[in-house]
Amino acid sequence: MKRRLPARLDPGTTIAAVRDLHVRLGGTKILDGVTLDVSAGQVLALVGPNGAGKSTLLSALCGDLPIESGEALLYNEPLSHWSAVEMAMRRAAMLQQATISFPFSVAQIVEMGRAPWSGTDRCDLDEDVVRTAMELADIVPFGERVFSSLSGGERARVSLARALAQQSQLLLLDEPTAALDLHHQEDVLQLARRQATEGDAVVIVLHDLNLAAGYADQVAVLSHGQLAASGAPAEVLTAELLTEVYQHEVEVWPHPTTGEPVILPRRLTANHPATPDQFRWDALDTRDARPD
Ligand code: ADP
Ligand code: MG
Repeated sequence: MKRRLPARLDPGTTIAAVRDLHVRLGGTKILDGVTLDVSAGQVLALVGPNGAGKSTLLSALCGDLPIESGEALLYNEPLSHWSAVEMAMRRAAMLQQATISFPFSVAQIVEMGRAPWSGTDRCDLDEDVVRTAMELADIVPFGERVFSSLSGGERARVSLARALAQQSQLLLLDEPTAALDLHHQEDVLQLARRQATEGDAVVIVLHDLNLAAGYADQVAVLSHGQLAASGAPAEVLTAELLTEVYQHEVEVWPHPTTGEPVILPRRLTANHPATPDQFRWDALDTRDARPD
């Protein structure tokens, strides 16, 4: 079958979108009317509590999920219009569970990212692209190791390198920093910024709100399958919204030099005693019981 090769989109162009997206899994409504645009040249951080629907939204953008109603678009066409290879040329995903059942080496797994381009002119680049992706993800030292022998953080970086090697303009990363130390977390976010600077779109699910504040162009907050807010980090990452969405008191200050929001959960310790006005455990029990 003929493959339609992707054209490179200009920065600012919508590369993927969901419109009034409803997804139901196992009879349960998981996404409830989500509308979101993903633009070339931007890092979009997807944040929200466990179970909010972040991975489901990423899978929908990936074309891996049946949609109940609404649309999921890739390069302005419904995902269902693209063949598997055409999708793989346009979006690369690093999903939460990377399971590899055969004893592939790290380098072999990264090389798999090149599969969509077999038989095209881009094949000539395979070796260079794989090498660069491995360097960027800092996995060269264990390139010959078997994937299953790696630590969780190392596996995450291999999955990231495979996604990078795919050279699609849209990168979908589901909690790529979850198992990483501080240094490698910053590396991954810098990598996301680098890709965005080169014109790629990066959607990245993060739990660390400070990483989102420091690196994202746009932040989308999901809560109970709905979009609670989206926009620039400083507009979205407010104490009020985060306290509401996470059901935990959150404090936000501007960073003294950059002005970016610095976000901390409020902690009950000897140095930070609660007062009835500031913090009430009973207020956390149910949403309705929260003070105004
Ligand atoms: P997040 O990534 O934000 O933590 P997910 O998108 O993985 O959340 O899941 C959202 C909700 O959907 C969770 O409550 C999860 O248990 C539920 N869910 C996910 N997959 C299924 C499924 N196949 N059947 C039923 N519920 C599911
Ligand atoms: Mg998830």
